[in-house]
Amino acid sequence: MSRFDVTILGANSAIPTANRFPTAQLLNINESYYLIDCGEGTQIQLRKNKLKFQRIEVIFISHLHGDHYFGLIGLLTTMHLLKREKPLKIVGPEKLWEIITLQLDVAGTKLAYPVTFEPISFSNGALLHSDTKIEVTALKLNHRIACAGFVFKQKPKEPSVRKDKIQDHQLTIDEIKELKSGNSIERKGKELLNELIVQPQQPKAYAYVTDTKMNEQIIPFIKEVDLLYHETTFKKHETKRAKETYHSTTHQAAEIALKANVTKLMIGHYSTRYDNLEELRQECMEVFENTVLATEGETILV
Ligand SMILES: [Zn+2]
Ligand SMILES: [Zn+2]
Repeated sequence: MSRFDVTILGANSAIPTANRFPTAQLLNINESYYLIDCGEGTQIQLRKNKLKFQRIEVIFISHLHGDHYFGLIGLLTTMHLLKREKPLKIVGPEKLWEIITLQLDVAGTKLAYPVTFEPISFSNGALLHSDTKIEVTALKLNHRIACAGFVFKQKPKEPSVRKDKIQDHQLTIDEIKELKSGNSIERKGKELLNELIVQPQQPKAYAYVTDTKMNEQIIPFIKEVDLLYHETTFKKHETKRAKETYHSTTHQAAEIALKANVTKLMIGHYSTRYDNLEELRQECMEVFENTVLATEGETILV
C-alpha cells in the first residue's frame, strides 16, 4: 500500500507558546519526506516526533513572515553538522535564498551537502516541483506579503494485481502485465475479469493553504482534493480583524472547503488568544462537517 500522510509539527500563528509551535508540517510519501514551512523550533519538533530529518528531500516555504521560516537556518545547519551528503531542494520566495546565503556566509559555513533553490512563481497552478512520486503546484494567496499555497498531487500509479489472486490463479508474468494494462484474460474459455483481480491505485491530493484572506480564486485549483489544510487564525465573528490582517476565520475556511468539495478539512494557524481549539472546529463544522484540528505530533492520512 502506498503511504501519503502529514505530521503536524507546529500549528500556531505568529507567536509560539509553551506548548504550541509556529507552522511546520512534514509530508511522508512512501518514506520520502517533504517539509512544508519551517517555523522556529521545527528541528526540535522533528526530533521529538522521532522523524529522520535527513530524509527530507524538498523544503517548501510559503512566505517570509518569521513564523513560517525562522527555523530554517537552524535545520540546514544541523543537517550540515550531522554530515548530510544527500542533495536538498528548497522552494521559496526569491529573497529567501539571499537570506540563507547571508546567514551561512557570516558564520563561515559552507554546507557539506548540495542545495538547489527554486524561486516560487506566485500564480495559481504554476509547477514548483516534480519527481517520481509527486507533482507540486502553487496557489496564489492573498496576504500582506507575497504568499503561496501548495497542492501536492501523487503521480498516477500503476494498478496492482492482488497477491491472493496471483496465487489462486497461478498467474504468469505475461498475464500480470496484461491485467496491469487494463485487460481481462482468458483461462480455458473462461474470462478472468480485470476488476476482480486488479486494484486501481487512486492518486491522492493534499492542498496547503496558509496565511490568506478568504480567497475564492483558489477554488478551481483545490477542487476535490482529499485533504485541505486551511488556516483559521480567527473565530467566525472576527471577520473585520481577519480582513485587516489578511487572515481567515473558521467560517471562511469551511466555506472554501465546501465550495471546493474537498473530502476533509484540517484547520490550524491558531491565534495565541485561543485556548479551546475545539470551539474553532465546532464553528467550521457548522458549515463543513468533516473538519479536524491540526494538532502537534499527530499524523493525518491524506
Ligand atoms: Zn503565519
Ligand atoms: Zn504571514
